[in-house]
Amino acid sequence: MKRPIATLTRTNEILTEYGLSAKKNFGQNFIIDPTVVEKIAKNALLDKETAVIEIGPGIGALSEQLAKYAKTVISYEIDTDLIEVLSHVLKEVENVEIIHQDFLTVDLNEIVKNLRKTHKKVVLCSNLPYYITTSILLKVFQCEEKIEAITVMMQKEVADHFFLQPQSRDYGAINIIMESGFAVERVMKIPRTVFDPKPNVESAVLRFTAKENRAPSRNRERFFELVKACFKQRRKSLLNNYENYLHDREMAKKILVAANLDTSLRAEALSLEQFLNLFEAEMNERERYEK
Ligand code: SAM
Repeated sequence: MKRPIATLTRTNEILTEYGLSAKKNFGQNFIIDPTVVEKIAKNALLDKETAVIEIGPGIGALSEQLAKYAKTVISYEIDTDLIEVLSHVLKEVENVEIIHQDFLTVDLNEIVKNLRKTHKKVVLCSNLPYYITTSILLKVFQCEEKIEAITVMMQKEVADHFFLQPQSRDYGAINIIMESGFAVERVMKIPRTVFDPKPNVESAVLRFTAKENRAPSRNRERFFELVKACFKQRRKSLLNNYENYLHDREMAKKILVAANLDTSLRAEALSLEQFLNLFEAEMNERERYEK
């Protein structure tokens, strides 16, 4: 039987063969425990009609497991040196496609739309590069096309953030944006020892599952802009941030009042529902104005 990539011996063999070592600037920490990659893949809601988008395949440890359960795996890797490694290591795995690209520059809507033509479901799975966790997740949560599930490993403290409630000091735009489209659950905690090199932090795997009905159902891009604008300067009141966004203090006040919101609140006090009320009040006002 073929030896899995996710062991210390195999990882060292592969890196030595290509004269490589893990690059800190790309957040490279390779998983060296086969049971962990297997468990992540099993939790990614895969089946043989599903396409899975992977971010940062590294030397292919998780990719080879994803390929077992999915119809297609599309993996985006930024590191030029790893492209050749991946094409050799995964040469017998026919359903993996490696794309040499910074994931932050891909047109995710277009990719998901195309995959959906030939697959029943599109999901995403990754042992994320920790230095860009938030940028990646914000991009994925804001994708217009439906992504059924996002199963990702991240730093434990970052994972904990997704379970905060309004009023918490660190509750932020990403919480509202996530919650507008996904439900979150913990899959497992991961100790530092399953990586090579070992990161300084503990990790956790979370799964975000798409909600049946996203809210708002239309003009989502505009909604996300509004949410981000309200959190732009965290120490400022909702009214001040909103005024900066609309460039009109009176209008900002009028809309907040129409949405039943106290103008002295800060953005972190608002629930998703209250943000949706604000958005609706704003859309009503815009309609009135445009008439
Ligand atoms: N999947 C492998 C594993 O679990 O062993 C490697 C995970 S490692 C934590 C993160 C991977 O993401 C690295 O291979 C790194 O080169 C890649 N990466 C970093 N930034 C990236 C980006 N912007 N786009 C795509 N891949 C990126």
